[in-house]
Amino acid sequence: MSKLLSITEYVNGITSENISVLSKAITLIESRKVEHQELASQLIETILPFSGKSMRIGITGVPGVGKSTFIDAFGIHLINEHKKVAVLAIDPSSSISKGSILGDKTRMENLSVHPKAFIRPTASGGSLGGVTYKTKETILLCEAAGFDSIIVETVGVGQSETEVNSITDFFLLLMLTGAGDELQGIKRGIMEMADGIVITKADGNNINKAKSARAEFANALHFFPPSESGWIPEVKTCSAIEKTGMEDVLTMIDKYHRHTLKNGFFHEKRKNQNLISFQKLLDEQLKKQFLSSQQIKNQITELNQKVEQGIISPYGAVKSINWS
Ligand code: GDP
Repeated sequence: MSKLLSITEYVNGITSENISVLSKAITLIESRKVEHQELASQLIETILPFSGKSMRIGITGVPGVGKSTFIDAFGIHLINEHKKVAVLAIDPSSSISKGSILGDKTRMENLSVHPKAFIRPTASGGSLGGVTYKTKETILLCEAAGFDSIIVETVGVGQSETEVNSITDFFLLLMLTGAGDELQGIKRGIMEMADGIVITKADGNNINKAKSARAEFANALHFFPPSESGWIPEVKTCSAIEKTGMEDVLTMIDKYHRHTLKNGFFHEKRKNQNLISFQKLLDEQLKKQFLSSQQIKNQITELNQKVEQGIISPYGAVKSINWS
């Protein structure tokens, strides 16, 4: 890691929208070194008053659905509407050091060279808090650096969607036409979580198919239980290549924003998300503190062997720990 800055240097750099300092700050919060983590939590605490003022948009969909092409086109659309866009791409399957495909900036060729955009891969880091623990903090840093539209991208195949939904305001699901949900590997739970669905690649011969898929999805959504937000998810079509449908998607998100601000759900959701963050941080701290005792570590090493050799059951092992 490059030289550490002081808290004042980080905060001044971030709040004056200095991207290089923002990047260094994100590297700091992703670090696993104890001395970095202390500085990182101090930094997060200090920038909190400057954060919170963005629309946080989670985007998911199976590989090949067109996420990066969509985010590239949609991001440019947002910038043309005078927004500043940060894209945080989560790849739950590989860490940054292994060369994550999601981290490859060339996937968003227009956005990656735009001065008003910031693209950053975000690794799970293996922390107890899971995928989103560092991503949430990265969102806060980006907000303090003036980004008012934050896109968190994840691959729509696993548990990471629920986590992304727990740190974003609006959850957008991208779907292909002409394939059943099973084929698209999208679980019903993920569809239920979506605030909006966008059928991608609505161009060329695909336009009519996209339109009928849109009607089918809109129909299917009616059978889902009503969401707590009181918002009825909308279905749109778009072509990221022909840059059509972008305005529709933005209008939908703005409409959701107004709707949830008015009925209080927007702040309610963020409050609940704070409780989730607190719980995760607390769990992590408890585990860290617990494992800092050499006596406990020795017991665990011994019990690991006993469980492996079948001398004791996993349940018995936990029960036999001397916690004091
Ligand atoms: P991701 O894996 O979900 O990020 O998908 P990509 O954005 O990499 O797109 C997968 C493939 O679909 C690429 O070959 C894209 O060129 C193509 N694609 C993406 N968006 C569109 C679109 O709007 N129209 C058409 N026809 N192809 C698209």
